[in-house]
Amino acid sequence: MWRAGLLCRCPACGKGPLFTGFLTVAPRCRACGEDLAACEQGDGPAVFVILILGFIITGAALVVEVMFSPPYWLHVAIWPPLILGGALAMLRPFKGVLVATHFRHRRGHVER
Ligand SMILES: [Zn+2]
Repeated sequence: MWRAGLLCRCPACGKGPLFTGFLTVAPRCRACGEDLAACEQGDGPAVFVILILGFIITGAALVVEVMFSPPYWLHVAIWPPLILGGALAMLRPFKGVLVATHFRHRRGHVER
């Protein structure tokens, strides 16, 4: 489940791609035909990414400020690219894991 989610693969077979776009969940798996539309998580993964990345970046910015007291322009140069890059890097795997978790624990699911 975690592996398929982190690799953005179908949670049923682990082979077919989970997404058709950057964050659009495929309606059906191209490899096994599993219905994936019911596992769509919407903006749920973004909440986790915001909270986790916000905690990390805020903590890092505070540590850098306390230890080095750099000029503010350096903060502006460092943190926004890290926030943007981190969010883009984390969104797909987080959504993949949430879709896989939903798939595994959905009502009526029988483990094969
Ligand atoms: Zn599949």
